[in-house]
Amino acid sequence: MPFDRSKYPPDWDEIAFATKERAGWRCELCGKQLRRPGEPFDTHRRTATVMHLNHEPMDVRPENLRCACPACHLAYDAGHHAETRVQCGTDQLRLNI
Ligand SMILES: [Zn+2]
Repeated sequence: MPFDRSKYPPDWDEIAFATKERAGWRCELCGKQLRRPGEPFDTHRRTATVMHLNHEPMDVRPENLRCACPACHLAYDAGHHAETRVQCGTDQLRLNI
């Protein structure tokens, strides 16, 4: 997943960490227990990510942020990307899904 750091606040790492702590390192969408810091890597499916409900990277209010597993995060963003495509009128792209 591309990560353009310039679109995020400079203290994003701390904000993201705090969000994961608040969630108890569980996906707030499906409830999956995710890997905590210091746990050995097993699978990226248990990597904690932080997503923006309104897709605005600079909007880091706690109510806009959710700790999520990669699958839920991708599914959530995929819905947003599909909407964006429709709004852009590039309907051709939708046929490739
Ligand atoms: Zn999940």
